[in-house]
This record gives sequence, C-alpha cells and structure tokens, in this order.
Amino acid sequence: MIPTVMPTYARADLAFERGEGAYLYATDGRRFLDFAAGVAVNALGHCHPHMVAALKAQADKLWHCSNLYRVPGQEKVSRRLVDNSFADTVFFCNSGAEAMEGVIKTCRKYHYETGNPQRTRILTAIDAFHGRTLATIAAGGQAKHLKGFAPMVEGFDRVVYGDIAALKAAITPDTAAILIEPIQGEGGIRPASLDYLRAARALADEAGILLAMDEVQSGMGRTGKLFAHQWAGIAPDVMGTAKGLGGGFPVGAILATEKAAVGMVAGTHGSTFGGNPLAMAVADAVLDVMLAEGFMEHVQAMSARLWAGLEDVARRHPGVFSELRGAGLMLGLKCVPPAAEVGAKLRDNGLLTVGAGDNVVRILPPLVVGPAEIDEALSILHRSCGELAA
Ligand SMILES: *Cc1c(COP(=O)(O)O)cnc(C)c1O
Repeated sequence: MIPTVMPTYARADLAFERGEGAYLYATDGRRFLDFAAGVAVNALGHCHPHMVAALKAQADKLWHCSNLYRVPGQEKVSRRLVDNSFADTVFFCNSGAEAMEGVIKTCRKYHYETGNPQRTRILTAIDAFHGRTLATIAAGGQAKHLKGFAPMVEGFDRVVYGDIAALKAAITPDTAAILIEPIQGEGGIRPASLDYLRAARALADEAGILLAMDEVQSGMGRTGKLFAHQWAGIAPDVMGTAKGLGGGFPVGAILATEKAAVGMVAGTHGSTFGGNPLAMAVADAVLDVMLAEGFMEHVQAMSARLWAGLEDVARRHPGVFSELRGAGLMLGLKCVPPAAEVGAKLRDNGLLTVGAGDNVVRILPPLVVGPAEIDEALSILHRSCGELAA
C-alpha cells in the first residue's frame, strides 16, 4: 500500500525532534553534527535565537494579508538585498524553483518588451539543476528528472559547463539569456572558474542578451560573500536565490536590474504566499546576522579551516576520497566507493552530509559553524574513512 506521505524521496530511517546551532537531536536520543544544514538552508544553524524571536514576534501581529496591499516587510528586505547586490528590484516567492521560473519569465519578457520577441531561448549547462517544476527540469535537462514527464517545456539549449568557446558558439538570434549556477550544487559541487563567469558576462553584453544566475544554493553567504558571482567582480542582470534566505522558513527571491525587469509590471507575475509578513520577518532577521560586521569573514575563516582539514582527510584516505572542490562552506568530496555508502557511514558516526551528482558527498555546514565543530567533523571523517577502508 502506498504510504500516506507520497514516496518521492529515498529517506534515511531517521527523524529529528530538536535542533540547536550545528546540532540535530533525533527522536531516538542520538545527537548529530549537521553538515547538511537542510541542504544549505539552515544558514544560521537550527533555532538561531534572533530568528526565533523575529518569527514569534511577527506571529503575534500578522501572518498573511496577500499582495493586494503593501507589505512593509517586503519593502525592508528588498531594500537590504538591493543595497547589497547588483539588483534594483526584488520579487518574493516561496522556493528556489519558483524563483528560477520567475527568472526564466523575466528573461523572455525583457526581449518581448524591447523589440526582440524571437529571443526566447535560454542557454543552460549540462548537469545543471534549477528545480523540479516543468520549466526548471527542462532548464536542467537531466534525463533522470525529465523521464516520464513529457512533453518537455521548450526553449532551453544546453552547453558544456565551463567551456567558453562552446558558450559563444551556442548563442543564436533566438537566444534570450545565458543561465549559470556559479557553482553547480546538485551536479556535484562543481565551481565555474571566475574567468568563465567573466566571459559569460562579456558574451551576453556582446550579443545583447541577459546573464541570469541561479544562486539558490550558492547565494546568501554560502561562499563567504553574499552571492558567489561577486568573487568574479561581475554582475548578472537577473538572479534567483532561496535556500539560505529564510534560514529554514520557505522564501525565495528574484533579483533583477531595472533594465532586466522592464516587462515585469502589474499583472505579469504573482504568488499568493510570496513575501508574506512571516517570511519577511524571518528573512530580515537572517539579513541582520549575515550583514553584520565580520560575518562573511567568519565564513571565510571557517572555510579555510575546513578546506585544509578536508584536504588532509582526502590525502590520507585516497581509497575513499579522490578530490576536494567548491568554495566557502559549499564543499564537495568526490568519493571512490559509492557516495551513498560514504554518507551512510558518516551518518552512523554522527555526521550528516548530503549526496550530489558525480559521486560526491556535499559538506554544507551552517555558516555559523565554529572551529570546534569543524574539528569534530574532521575527526568523524578520519574515523569513518578508516572504517570504510577496513
Ligand atoms: C535547491 C535548488 C533549486 C530548487 O530549489 P527548491 O527550493 O527545491 O525549489 C534550484 N536551483 C539550485 C541551484 C538549487 O540548489
């Protein structure tokens, strides 16, 4: 008989009842160090007191009022995102896929409004991941996500990730935009070179098309800057972000320049729940912490410590790990045995990680992680590698 919870996930037989900082407490009493962070969502760890206070205070005032009225929380959070990014304007939604759907719509509408309605196609990368809606699975183009869900949404052309010449060759008079994850997350923590991001910006400018980014996973401080593309010193025209933005409360956002958003006027896009007062109170609290002096420096310092430690783990256990890659606190270890086996061993020893494509184990600690927790994770990794080798 089908479970009452539709069985679309391969879940571990483990449930949690409480979380605090980088730790999760299971219903059976065990404690886990959480270096999965809800797949890069729990940026401030579990139950950060500032987020909890913001949610509770808002819960006593107003939860939802619809977008028929001004929402002061949206005005505040959008102002803070605009002040700290390339963007001039922000649309709030509830998830990463919804943000990316909006990014795709913004790209098409821009060319429709500016006299190039034939420019509808978007260049995406092989092994990209942009979500699980019909348009975003078409954008990602992965057979395992598309199978059985035909007809596929039209309008996406795929290129090899990181290949500047291939990107240039793929631009046609019908191309509306180039869409890039600065670091592929689900694809296996594969960073684009900063030169690739700069080249994509230059190619988009030359062709008169938009540069769109998917920073649903890499954004909101994950790489030690608010957005990963900032490391390249370039800016997209439009971008989706989500995961860390609500720190665990469902919220996503489309960020765009005034130019790119030219067609996104009243009646063109909407979301019933998008940007409701509860979500905005939490996102505002997340930004209080992330934008405070020293936060990004902390992420960068913890990244350096974790990177050095993981390099040592990989060097000492070449039979388990063959490569370390990523940036900030978005790191991946390519495994020699099946990544699922490595992840299960780590979990048995009290460390939660996330699998990804290309046989990678993702290491995504909360951004508030401390040195002692990193050292504890490294010691679990060493011990687990020893056990896997034995
Ligand atoms: C998680 C993710 C998405 C989809 O986000 P959902 O909130 O699951 O819809 C899209 N793009 C990237 C890069 C992601 O990591």
